[in-house]
Amino acid sequence: MQSLDDIAAQLQGYDPQALSVEGVHSFLRAMVQPLQTTESVPLVEALGRVLAEAIVSPLDVPAHDNSAMDGYAFSGQALHAGQTLTLHLAGTALAGQAGAQPLAAGQCLKVMTGAVLPAGLDTVVPQELVRADGGQIHIPANCVRQGDNRRLRGEDVAQGSVALQAGRALTPACVGLIASLGLAQVNVVRRLRVAYFSTGDEILSLGDAPREGAVYDSNRYTVRGMLQNMGMDCIDLGVVPDDPQALQAAFRNAAACADAIITSGGVSVGEADHTKAMMRNLAHSETPGEGGVAFWRIAMRPGRPMAVGRMGPVPLFGLPGNPVAVMVTFLAFVRPALWRMAGARDDDPHLQTPLLQARSSEAIRKKAGRTEYQRVRVSLASDGRLQVQTTGQQGSGVLSSMVQANGLMVLEHERGDVAVGDTVQVMMFAGLL
Ligand code: AMP
Ligand code: MG
Repeated sequence: MQSLDDIAAQLQGYDPQALSVEGVHSFLRAMVQPLQTTESVPLVEALGRVLAEAIVSPLDVPAHDNSAMDGYAFSGQALHAGQTLTLHLAGTALAGQAGAQPLAAGQCLKVMTGAVLPAGLDTVVPQELVRADGGQIHIPANCVRQGDNRRLRGEDVAQGSVALQAGRALTPACVGLIASLGLAQVNVVRRLRVAYFSTGDEILSLGDAPREGAVYDSNRYTVRGMLQNMGMDCIDLGVVPDDPQALQAAFRNAAACADAIITSGGVSVGEADHTKAMMRNLAHSETPGEGGVAFWRIAMRPGRPMAVGRMGPVPLFGLPGNPVAVMVTFLAFVRPALWRMAGARDDDPHLQTPLLQARSSEAIRKKAGRTEYQRVRVSLASDGRLQVQTTGQQGSGVLSSMVQANGLMVLEHERGDVAVGDTVQVMMFAGLL
């Protein structure tokens, strides 16, 4: 395992007090490694899991050339441009029946969708396009071409081909595809166990009586929700007060039972912000050479104070305390890092979050030199383009701005102020939250 110092040394312009969002991504890609433990699970439990090995198809899907329509199958060679074709009906083939015998020239077969096409029949005319007259079928001129409405054997998945690559996070479509190959079990990477706790003397748990100066813990619930959406195993370690002893015990406990640790609060420069110091000391003393805290300030808003480090092999994500900052830093950094640990490929189409382009409906002040995330409502303007509007107060503690939003506006590092009508990038919540 590379030490954190080694990783930092390879990073251009590394500054633990002001790392760019891109720098954080590079650091995390080097710091977190995929789990190696795999297990076989029934397909019905495989949704959201990550494939541990490629799935090579044991068969052709579909298994035979077959009809894509209810209609009449015939040899397309008999078609001539501009001419009606009249064929003699030789029988009927339903889906699920074994293939019929080949036909003689001038004959056709009535077929239902999915029926096997006998050798020589390569074209299907939909039944609503023909005129049936006793045993004669009249196909009007120019209504089909040779090869129309036929599904070819193996056109979806060919026997021996890679149907899904290792590292795919299984979506409903993936699970369906695996089922179409007749496979009832799949090998997946072990589920990631993620422990999390909130820190702060002022944080109340649900059930505690309200008291002056205190706030109810929302971070454990947003974090848990985002972890559950990813199908991770969640270990809730509660609220830990701003007390070095209690924090130390919580970190040790978390590192003993989890693959990754997420905390919130205590990483800024407040007097009671012990989490960062504790992470640093503990990570160093428990696992000299391997552990440590790599950086603690990111050039972004919200989410500037954030500590990232490692206790032995276990990554630590010390998120800020403010509820919106927790969600934004989780989406920006923790989510991709955890997927990587869970064995997912960086280019998994399901896990990538493509940025859309939209027009800002308002002017926004933005400082160059940091990445900013605004909570926005994305909608379709009357000219058919996407437009975005911020959702009220953008303070990093205002969770309702997240509730009303359907996406995050991402204002890049170098960018300055945004004027009304400027094009901006948006990350949609669909699939993320
Ligand atoms: P801190 O980073 O610990 O100074 O916290 C920053 C702000 O976030 C403070 O106003 C905290 O009260 C608030 N905060 C910290 N943790 C939580 C939490 N778990 N739930 C809600 N608010 C929190
Ligand atoms: Mg605090």
